[in-house]
Amino acid sequence: MTAAPLDPTTQAVSAGRGAGDPGDALSVPVTLASVYRSGGGPGAVGYGREGNPTWTALEDVLAALEGGTAHVFSSGMGAIEAVLDLLPLGAPVAVARDAYIGTRARLDDLAERGRVVVRPVDIADTGATLAACEGASLLWIESPTNPLMAIADLPALARGARELGVRTVADNTFATPLLTRPLDLGVDVVVHSVTKFLAGHSDVLLGATVAADPALAEELRARRTLLGSVPGPMEAWLALRGVRTLGPRLERAQASAGELARRLERHPGVTRVRYPGLPDDPGHARAAAQMRGFGAMLAFEVAGGGPAADGVCANVRLAIHATSLGGVETTLERRNEHPGEEAVPAGLVRVSVGCEHVEDLWADLAQALAAPA
Ligand SMILES: *Cc1c(COP(=O)(O)O)cnc(C)c1O
Repeated sequence: MTAAPLDPTTQAVSAGRGAGDPGDALSVPVTLASVYRSGGGPGAVGYGREGNPTWTALEDVLAALEGGTAHVFSSGMGAIEAVLDLLPLGAPVAVARDAYIGTRARLDDLAERGRVVVRPVDIADTGATLAACEGASLLWIESPTNPLMAIADLPALARGARELGVRTVADNTFATPLLTRPLDLGVDVVVHSVTKFLAGHSDVLLGATVAADPALAEELRARRTLLGSVPGPMEAWLALRGVRTLGPRLERAQASAGELARRLERHPGVTRVRYPGLPDDPGHARAAAQMRGFGAMLAFEVAGGGPAADGVCANVRLAIHATSLGGVETTLERRNEHPGEEAVPAGLVRVSVGCEHVEDLWADLAQALAAPA
């Protein structure tokens, strides 16, 4: 009899523990070691830049969640760099125009030095994106995008890019594998800022790659060793502890995000809400088809533009005015204030909904919207 596959929220709790012997600790230990004794046999780690048992435990969880072979890196950018480092010199790269600011900055940086050619695309427009993939080496997908919350048609992009011989990467930081499994939809590589929802407590920087093809995963692992973008064992342990509660954290945050989106939509001080869970959101049908939920990120535009949005950020008392996302605490910020985010509407406030009670969050947002700017 084969056991039924476990729900991903269960795998977040149970994967990466090994069978264990009687008397063993339940918690995976933090292995603080840079050197290992020789003679450990095939696959054994000799030096700490090559591997670490605490990394492996976290990688086992991420592999189970995404359905591929996972490797952890020092940060999300470290993971992104490993993927970009595989590109041949001069490679054309089609990239979501509103992809993560750091990804775009690194691609622009490489382009300035003639190492790649960047082709920015509207990732929600499948036809235009695939047209830009002609002759490209890589298609860089994000869904939902940050902060405009556009939804990419992952199966269509993966299929179309494959026909053109173009490798696909999906940054799955916003959705998490509990809501979207890009590898199941045909994407080649998933990257994560584990810093965000997976670790979930705003206390650690970590990244990951997950590849469907073990040979490609091995190439990415080799990049980590060569580039030295290795996580600290303590950071891996903190992320492992965080990911255990991903299911309940995300379930609560997502339920609150949906409720806040519906209430914000009716608020007279708000001109537009971007959340794929709203039935009239442009990405709703696509998100409903390829996601298991609509997530805990939303954005809203404040009547009165930039100054009014700054007022909301200054006047919240429970939610925290801060960058980043995916923590147990609700954070919000005006994205257009960041250099490189000029295309984002000035009055757009991005919210990462956390685990506080939804009524407390609503009371806070309502008073911040009512306060004079
Ligand atoms: C934060 C973030 C990154 C970068 O990750 P770091 O852990 O900060 O290096 C990449 N992609 C997305 C979508 C992010 O939000």
